[in-house]
Amino acid sequence: MIRLPAFAAVLAALLLAAPALASAEDGDVLVQAGHEGRPESCARLHVKACNLGTAGSGAREMEWTAAVADETTRVLRAHGYTVLRRPADYEGSDSARAAVFLHFDGASPCASGASVGFPSTTSRAFVGGWERAYRAWFPFRFVGENFTENEHKYYGFRKVDAPEKMLIEFGEMTCPAQFAWMAPRLREMGDRLAAFLMAQVPPR
Ligand SMILES: [Zn+2]
Repeated sequence: MIRLPAFAAVLAALLLAAPALASAEDGDVLVQAGHEGRPESCARLHVKACNLGTAGSGAREMEWTAAVADETTRVLRAHGYTVLRRPADYEGSDSARAAVFLHFDGASPCASGASVGFPSTTSRAFVGGWERAYRAWFPFRFVGENFTENEHKYYGFRKVDAPEKMLIEFGEMTCPAQFAWMAPRLREMGDRLAAFLMAQVPPR
């Protein structure tokens, strides 16, 4: 015979453990806007390394990452893709066919440029495809692949189960020339990223 209070305690423990999984979703593409929602989300979700991102000439990185992520998402959805549009911090983890994490760099002025970061599971074709496309358009320096440990071991990679994951640094906001070139092109950046993703992840 089960005593009811003990059963209720077990049930309560199970229910308390459940919310961690509650927001897991499956989609075609996950698009994360770097730093978006911080610092509020760091306090709420107990994120200790609350990196708020860089800024330049009166614009914050998290505004730019959100603008590009929104446009990428809009185009992909218009073409029938299921997009998981994520901020910097969120509960649960997802699965997708490809995941991109959007950032702009900050450095001592003009010491940096565009770059990419990815885990070892991401294919050479995915990384190479983006680099070729972006380098043909972006008229400044491409500084490399996984050039910091932060890029190689980005925390966001652990939040999604996807065969292709890549962090994209579109350019350096703290370099006035790069800033001036990028500022009027955030929408086109999103369109180009969407076109790349549609080529890499064919419609189902
Ligand atoms: Zn960033």
